[in-house]
Amino acid sequence: MSMVGQHIVVTGGGSGVGAETARVFANAGASVTVLGRRIAQLEKLAKSIGGLPVSADVTDPAALKAALDTAREEFGPVAVAVANAGTAPSAPFEKISAHDFNETLAVNLGGVFHLWQMTLPDMKANGWGRLIAIASTAGLKGYVYVSPYCAAKHGVVGLTRSLAQEIGTSGVTANAICPGFIETPLLEKSVEAIAAKTGMTAAETHKSLLSGNPQKRFVSTREVAQTALWLCSDAAASVNGHALALSGGEV
Ligand code: NAP
Repeated sequence: MSMVGQHIVVTGGGSGVGAETARVFANAGASVTVLGRRIAQLEKLAKSIGGLPVSADVTDPAALKAALDTAREEFGPVAVAVANAGTAPSAPFEKISAHDFNETLAVNLGGVFHLWQMTLPDMKANGWGRLIAIASTAGLKGYVYVSPYCAAKHGVVGLTRSLAQEIGTSGVTANAICPGFIETPLLEKSVEAIAAKTGMTAAETHKSLLSGNPQKRFVSTREVAQTALWLCSDAAASVNGHALALSGGEV
């Protein structure tokens, strides 16, 4: 399947994994919409790849729908929806506020639900489409101090497996990519929080994060983006309902 002229929407497209995914698909010829809350970084990225920046909070269905309508006016029906927006506040279980719990589920799980539900009709009408979630190894195993994040990412894996059963004959597939730790702004916030709590240096924190990874290195944003592109290739036509771990063998 050629990506030339295909409309891809990437949530959280202004930084980290989302920005790299936007670049990789733009290089493959796709028409790329990048969506997030901070419009300035989206505009900068979009300018560099000839894409469209749209501002919306993925936890606000009305705002997300309006942003997708704007994107369709520019690039037509959505063929690939990458639900990548995420947040990962960290705290011991007993110190997590109800607000932080709800917010973490709303962004990491609700954001996938809304984006996929709003774009699946475009894909069904075309007879081809790709629903892709950037989940995490936290969707496949537990980690300390991020229980709401782990709950949300496990939820994404469950959503993916269930939806894959429903859309099997539609030409659309749903998959979750589950990377291990990646050096992005999200990880740096976690490193700062861990270092502040434990007194470890940033280097020691990095080392401890990699202790469970047999390859002892961070996953790159490019590896994640290229995996998303591969999911759009003919080679991946039968890959549906998977949780693809990119973790050097950690899970
Ligand atoms: P990042 O650079 O902080 O990206 C997160 C993006 O999500 C930001 O661009 C942010 O933009 C957007 N976002 C957050 N809340 C949003 C909301 N309510 N509505 C719309 N957009 C929102 O971090 P990243 O590491 O690339 O994260 C991307 C994805 O990879 C996340 O789902 C994360 O869980 C997953 N992941 C990361 C790692 C890692 O170690 N970094 C590992 C495995 C999986 P705005 O603030 O402008 O909205």
